[in-house]
This record gives sequence, C-alpha cells and structure tokens, in this order.
Amino acid sequence: MTRSHSPRVEAAVWSLATAFGYFVLAAVSLHATKGADNIAAVWPPSGYMLALLLLMPAHARLASLVGMAAASVAANMLGGSSLALSAAFTVANGCEACTALWLIRRREAGELSFMVPRSFANFCVAALSASALSASIATALVGAALGGRSLDFFLSWLTTVALGILIVTPPIVTLARLIGSKALEHAPARMKGEAVLILTATAAVTAAAFSQAHFPSTFLPCIAVVAAAYRLGPFGAATAMLIVTIITSLLTGQGMGPVAAIEADRTTRVLFLQFYLLAMLFTTLPLAALLVAQRRLARRLEQSNRSLLQAEAAALVGHWRVDLVRWTIEWSDQTYRIHGLAPGTPVDVEYSMEQYLPEDREIAQGILREAVKTGQPFEYQGRLRRADGEVRHVKSHGLIETGRGGKPVGIFGTLQDVTETVENARILEAARNAAERVANTDMMTGLPNRRHTLAFLEKAMVGARDHGAPLAVAIFDIDHFKRINDEFGHAVGDEVIRRVARRAKASLRDEDMVGRFGGEEFVCVLQRSSAQAAELVAERLRKAIEADDSSDDLPPATVSIGLAVYDGELDAEELLHRADQALYTAKREGRNRLRLAA
Ligand code: GH3
Ligand code: MG
Ligand code: MG
Repeated sequence: MTRSHSPRVEAAVWSLATAFGYFVLAAVSLHATKGADNIAAVWPPSGYMLALLLLMPAHARLASLVGMAAASVAANMLGGSSLALSAAFTVANGCEACTALWLIRRREAGELSFMVPRSFANFCVAALSASALSASIATALVGAALGGRSLDFFLSWLTTVALGILIVTPPIVTLARLIGSKALEHAPARMKGEAVLILTATAAVTAAAFSQAHFPSTFLPCIAVVAAAYRLGPFGAATAMLIVTIITSLLTGQGMGPVAAIEADRTTRVLFLQFYLLAMLFTTLPLAALLVAQRRLARRLEQSNRSLLQAEAAALVGHWRVDLVRWTIEWSDQTYRIHGLAPGTPVDVEYSMEQYLPEDREIAQGILREAVKTGQPFEYQGRLRRADGEVRHVKSHGLIETGRGGKPVGIFGTLQDVTETVENARILEAARNAAERVANTDMMTGLPNRRHTLAFLEKAMVGARDHGAPLAVAIFDIDHFKRINDEFGHAVGDEVIRRVARRAKASLRDEDMVGRFGGEEFVCVLQRSSAQAAELVAERLRKAIEADDSSDDLPPATVSIGLAVYDGELDAEELLHRADQALYTAKREGRNRLRLAA
C-alpha cells in the first residue's frame, strides 16, 4: 500500500500506524488488566511494536519509534502514571523493541520465519533477552519509588513484556505475510472453513472455561490450541494463542474465571495466568513449526521418490535391495514390472533367485556371494522366467552396503531388461555369420572359395611352422574339360564340376580342406601330411573322382594333381606355384595322375 509513495510518506504512514496501534493496545491493556503497580498482566504493545518493526522497511523504523514513544507516554499518562514514570516505561519499552529487532536481524539472514524451528528458537531468545533488558531498565529507572519490591517488579515486567512479544508478534507477522503473499486468497475454501471453525471453537472454549470457576476446565483451551497447531500450522497456533490470551486476560482482569478465583494476592494470580499462557505457547508454537518442517520433508521425500520411480519407468531400469541382516528383499515398481508382477506383491530373497533359469541362477548366486565376500561392485546377466512364463534377459549392476566395521549389511542392485539388446545382438551375429559364409563360399559347389582357401592355407602354414608339423597342398584340374563343355554343354559341365567337388570333399580327412580355386581347378590343404601321406590322400582323391558312377548320367571325368610339401620357409604363393608346376607335369605326362613337386 505504501510502496508507490516516497520513502518519507511511507515512513510517516508506518509511524502513524505504529503510534495509533500502540496507543490503543496500551490504553486497553492498562485499563482492562491494570495491576497495583500499573503493570498489565500481558503487554501486547511490545509484541505489536516488534511485529511492525519486522514488517516495515528499514527507513521507516526511526519515525515509527518516535511515534511509539509518543503513544506510550500518552497511554501511560492516561492510565494514571506521572510524566516521569511514563517516560521511564517508554524508554524501557523502546530499548526493548530495538534490542529484540537487532538480536533477530543478527541471526536471521532473510525474513524471520516462525515455521523454521531454529528461527523460532532465535525469536524466543531475542524476546526473552529484550524483555530482561527492558525489565532491568524499568526497574533501575523507577527503583527508588519501589522500595523493597524491586525483584517482584522486575519479574512482573519481564513476564508481562515477554508474553506480549511471544504471543502477539507471531500471529501479526504470519498473518501479514500470508496476506502479502496472497496465500490466503489461494488457500482452498475447505481449509479456510476449517481455520474459521477451529479458531471460533478456540474462542468459544476459552470463553466458556474462563467465564466460570465451578468446572475444572482451565486447561481445555490447550486442546483447542494444539488442534489449531496440528491442523493449521504456525499461523493457527499463533492466532489461537492470541485469541486465548485476549480472552483469558480480559475475563481474568474482570475478576472472572478460575485464575481470578485463586485465593492468593493479585501478583500470584497474574503470575499464574502468565505462566499458564507461556506453557501453552512453548508447547504449541514449536510443535507447529516442527510439524510444518516434517510435513515439508515428507512432501520432498515423496516427490523425490516419485521422481525416482518415474525415472526408473522411463529408463526401464529397476532397483532391488537385499537386507543381509534381516534377510529380506525390496523391489522397486519397475523391478516388479520386469518380473511381470504387480508392484507391491510380497517377495523374499529365495523367490527372487528362483526366478532365474537354474544355470543362470547358479552363476548369479556365485557372483553375489563373491561380491559380499570382497565388498566389490558386481555385475551379472541372466535369464529369468517371468510370472507369465516368458523368459527375459536381465542385467544387474550393484554394490555392497557396509555397516559399522565394514561388515556387509545389504546388497543394492539395479535391474534392466536387456532382452531386446540380447536378441538384436544374436540376430546381428547370425547375419554376420551368414554374410561371412557367403563371402567365403563358392556358390556353385558350396566349397570354400579362392579367398577363403588362401586364408585357410596361410593359417595352416603358420600353425604347421609353429608346431613343426608337416603340411602339403594339392592343386587339381579336370582333364580336357573343354571337351566336356563342348560335347555336353555348359550346364552338364557345371554338374561335372559339382560332382568333382563332392567326391573330392568326401575323399578327404576332416582336418583337410578342399576349395574351388577357379574354373575347374581346386586346391587341397592337407594338414599334418608328409609327402608320402599327401600322396596317399591325393591318390585316393584322384581315384574317387575317376570312379565310374552309374547313379548319374554325367560323363566321366578325371583330374590331374600337382602336390607340393611345405618346408617351413616358402610363402603360400610360392607353395602353390610349386604345386601348379607339378600339376603341369602331371598334365604333360598324360593326365589323370599326380605328381609331387621336386
Ligand atoms: P586340360 O586337361 O589341359 O586342363 O584341358 P582343359 O580342356 O580342361 O583345359 P583348361 O583347364 O584350360 O580348360 C578350362 C575350361 O573350363 C575353360 C572354361 O571354358 C571351362 N570352364 C571354366 N569354368 C567353368 C565353369 O564354371 N563351368 C563350365 N561349364 N565350364 C567352365
Ligand atoms: Mg583349367
Ligand atoms: Mg582342365
């Protein structure tokens, strides 16, 4: 309201509000609860002053203090005090307001919040310290007039002012902030209704309890204030306290209620009321602040738990934890989903392991046992059978939680369904193998092609050299194949090539290999074969090809074979060249025979 005006106007408005409010509160308090020492039972102006000092901008404080001083002197004089006494009380109250503000500002970096337990404790310390200071000043200034009752006066002033601050400041500040933040406007109607109901009930219960002295209902208002603290938080607690304070002070001041009926002098009765209110205040306000802090924490925990579950659901990663002490297991919602179970279904450690296929279970258990023993992080992959019978591949990463003395107390792990990844890898591997097969195979005969035959030979040569084992190669070529083509056609020629390939392969040992090197020319790699052994194999091959077979209508064919033995020094090309020369010799010498390179 004052923000659009100049600082001077703003200061003047705050000063007027302070002076007016202070005067009214002081005059009413003095009139309604005035004691023999001209000290009220509760001094609300102190609380009002501090609340305004906390709410107003810094530049308005000085003017407001001047306003307060004028109001204080006027109210005290109106209450019957002399100018000197009124001035003394005003100095004491002024110093107390400044001190309380200074003590709060020194500890609180931002706004003072009654919802933070630590801040509330700071506020109490500031209120009590400032009250003690103001009581000391007042006692010192009017000391001479008090005679021997200066301790009574000091205590009475201290409790009166402390109560005034502790009871009045919180509701004013909280309410002003609530209005400023528009939180009240946005509060749900149900909540506003509940607030009105609880606060009205507080007023009614307090009025009922303090307007009579027959029934022992003195502590009934406590229930209402605790209910307000519990349901409405610090604002509710502070407002309910204010209501109880106003009603009990007014009624007691009028000689009504249980406190007024106590058979003791007036000072004792006032003290009773003050401590009654203090006890209620220190029970409910910290309780409300703690409750708010706890609710806030619970909300934050719930939110972060929700975020974790959402993140797990989005990433398709779950988590689990085994309590090694109690031998229990916890699953996150996503872990349940991976297992095909509804979240929350009861599970135990044994059940969780039984979900794995037996061979994978053993491996996983072994890895977990080892991790518990060493305390090292672990990782395993296995297949589990879901509740619906489907087998899924899962992967788990985790770590061991240790307690005091490094003793393992828990296993924490993540769980990820990697079925798609495993399937894709398998398909990729199969495709790669098929592609490799195609790249290495001669399509017409199904034998290894030239490239693969050469690669096989080179590898075999390395093995033979490393192990000192003998190795031989044979090159064979169909005799007068052109004639077969010419006489029977190309298709029959192809069939003859296929038959030669089949027979050659059938006549070789498992460790040997035969590949189509090109046209109607083939290469055999004969492992662990000396010249003699190679000759035997080659001869068997030649005969097998030559054999008359009535099972097909194909023309007969023979092959000439050139053999060369690896001596550990030649390279593949040289070895093949020598075998080729031996083949040439076999052709030249009449074909359908084998020759060994010299
Ligand atoms: P030699 O006994 O000296 O080996 O006489 P040859 O007639 O077999 O002569 P050469 O080996 O030089 O002839 C190879 C012939 O094989 C030439 C080519 O037309 C034929 N040929 C090569 N590849 C194929 C094939 O895939 N299918 C058929 N049907 N013929 C082929
Ligand atoms: Mg040829
Ligand atoms: Mg030929």
